Amino acid sequence: MTTSGVRVRIAPSPTGEPHVGTAYVALFNYLFAKKHGGEFILRIEDTDATRSTPEFEQKVLDALKWCGLKWSEGPDVGGPYGPYRQSDRKDLYKPFVDKIVANGHGFHCFCTPERLEEMRAAQRAAGKQPKYDGHCLNLSAEEVTTRIASGEPNVVRMKIPTEGSCKFVDGVYGPVEIPWDAVDMQVLLKADGMPTYHMANVVDDHLMKITHVARGEEWLASVPKHILIYQYLGLEPPVFMHLSLMRNADKSKLSKRKNPTSISYYSALGYLPEALMNFLGLFFIQIAEGEEILTIDELATQFDPENLSKAGAIFDIQKLDWVNGRWLREKLSEEDFQHRVLQWALENDRLREGLKLSQSRISKLGELPDLMGFLLKSDLHLDPAAFAKIKSTPEELLEILNTVQPDLEKILEWNVESVEAELRAIADRMGKKLKVVVAPLFVAVSGSSRSLPLFDSMAILGRAVVRQRLKLAAQTVATLVGPKN
Ligand code: GLU
Repeated sequence: MTTSGVRVRIAPSPTGEPHVGTAYVALFNYLFAKKHGGEFILRIEDTDATRSTPEFEQKVLDALKWCGLKWSEGPDVGGPYGPYRQSDRKDLYKPFVDKIVANGHGFHCFCTPERLEEMRAAQRAAGKQPKYDGHCLNLSAEEVTTRIASGEPNVVRMKIPTEGSCKFVDGVYGPVEIPWDAVDMQVLLKADGMPTYHMANVVDDHLMKITHVARGEEWLASVPKHILIYQYLGLEPPVFMHLSLMRNADKSKLSKRKNPTSISYYSALGYLPEALMNFLGLFFIQIAEGEEILTIDELATQFDPENLSKAGAIFDIQKLDWVNGRWLREKLSEEDFQHRVLQWALENDRLREGLKLSQSRISKLGELPDLMGFLLKSDLHLDPAAFAKIKSTPEELLEILNTVQPDLEKILEWNVESVEAELRAIADRMGKKLKVVVAPLFVAVSGSSRSLPLFDSMAILGRAVVRQRLKLAAQTVATLVGPKN
């Protein structure tokens, strides 16, 4: 039971593979709730119906559970303020939007996507930040009624003050001031009757009695819109806390192009969830050297949101390796260690599936490590010579690897059939034989040109590991490409 009244939430959008950034924000909220004796809630934000899928939702829940995070309310466990999935709450939002319009704070907009695109193009050409120009702001009530009655598609937008600025105090950033001029007349209700993220987010935080909103700093610029929606509805906003984004060592935004960002990548490589949480939790505490290895409960004790680590959230894989190594070596008993190794190898059926594929190719068991070791290895140490043996030129190999990498991202459900179908389609598009396209992939994925069947191996390894292996392969092949004349 809540003792403090503190209620926080993680509100992932199920539009892709669960990201370490989601685990980072979820951990902050979890520790915040624990520290204050409050509740940690999970809400699925799937207002973007074209990109959200039930499979990704399941993956988000599984990944956060793998991290060891537990929520007291959510789509899987229910709770007093459910449903906890926005697509199941559709009818709840309309009265709030109606109220905003009735009070003159919102308006119907009939602009077509073509008109909006032309408007934005003209603004961009003039060097201006694209934003809605107020075309439908002053339509007469009669015109609006007639056009709606005639079935003309429309959205509802919010009005924005024409002068001054929005001032608020962020729990992490401190005082923030954003001029209203920089804020767009945000769409609140889409033409299909679904609310936008902004509308649903505010209404749900209100209805779910959320007291503190802690999320990534990419949402800081949206706070003026949110504060305005709260005001328009006569509601008190929660406390906002925007966490600095995790960055690569070169300070660039953490993205899968540079570093693996999927939680599943780290679980596949044999990082312990405790170690990943420990590593992420160090961003939220000030701790003396030598005392960095902490359980999630110990992190909660040390946690002080007023005093976040000043070092910035650099996703330093070497540090994660160090934390993980210490967990494996020092925090697990001999028995625990053995148990966790088996658990890891059996996860995603990697060992079982690998054995199944190996059986028809084996003459003694001792060949197994060579035959299927690549399914368990964290690093293949690719040898450029293995690529040099393939018939295609290094330039062609590079072209194949660089084409395959982004195209594989288009696969919705990653499995043997979808991987095979996509690779066949890629070969067609490139006008190459399938065997030419898969030759460098064999080496990239398994480290050798003779190994287990490729599509099955890719399915077993998972998208995140395959992505990283293709990236490393492209780097290796690039060393074979001669200097340009
Ligand atoms: N659905 C948003 C996201 O996935 C949540 C933002 C928020 O916490 O308000 O980033």
